Amino acid sequence: MTETVIGFDFGGTWLRAAEVGRDGSILWDERRSPARDYPKDLEIVRGLVERRSDDVVAAAVASPGPLDFHTGEVMRAANLQWLNQFPGRDIGEMLGVPTVVENDADVAALAEATYGAGRDADVLVYYGIGTGVGSGVVVNRAIFHGSLDPEFGHQILEPGSDRRCTAGHRGCLEALISGGSLVRVFGSVEAVPAEEWCEIVPHYLGQALANAALFLSPRVIVLGGGVIDHRPDIVPPAIREMEIMLEGFVPRPRVMISELGKEVGILGAAAAAWKIYAEDAASR
Ligand SMILES: [Zn+2]
Repeated sequence: MTETVIGFDFGGTWLRAAEVGRDGSILWDERRSPARDYPKDLEIVRGLVERRSDDVVAAAVASPGPLDFHTGEVMRAANLQWLNQFPGRDIGEMLGVPTVVENDADVAALAEATYGAGRDADVLVYYGIGTGVGSGVVVNRAIFHGSLDPEFGHQILEPGSDRRCTAGHRGCLEALISGGSLVRVFGSVEAVPAEEWCEIVPHYLGQALANAALFLSPRVIVLGGGVIDHRPDIVPPAIREMEIMLEGFVPRPRVMISELGKEVGILGAAAAAWKIYAEDAASR
């Protein structure tokens, strides 16, 4: 029997859906611009899945957060102007299959641990460095949620800094190295000075890698997101910073750049859907 799942990747630019096979093969892939109005966006989703086959057994939604995985509530998706919505429940009713909603950085971590740069890693940490900084932790191929969700992107590195993230933290990782924060400080990505890219950003990224290693001792740390796509040259000096900071401590994790690029959300949602399908089958 051929079974498939549907992965949804929702963001400020696109609402995207794809039907995906067990091996991560994409059977079809559709996207539309969001209406930024929840009921209208659900109608757009209905159009996206018109091509679905009869083989679909589960689905998962990669959504911007913050959200509560345990209840499925997306508290605030600012780019979509959604407040306190339950897209997993609503799309599950539309499709008639078990459907779960997960944070987009969490599914990126799951995608890399299932199909990407960390395929053999039992413990994997993902940093998505773009407009903000998202994080995901995967342990034995399952997303680690904790009581709500770990937020490595908001670890405080410089409490005395005058740079703040959009949540108002002083000197957190997102305030120091995210694309959004660098644009707020320097006016544009092009205006970010060389010293910032060559020394300051790698220093803080190295500190974030070392902290992840000290807290969780992951086998692999994967780096993705727009800032890494734009300046992959920040990664080698960040790894050197991490190695200096970890001298004499835990084994150093392998640090890798995301292998899945723009497919990370769809494939991560698919991996999450396969997981709930397996859990659902086990409970029957
Ligand atoms: Zn912050």
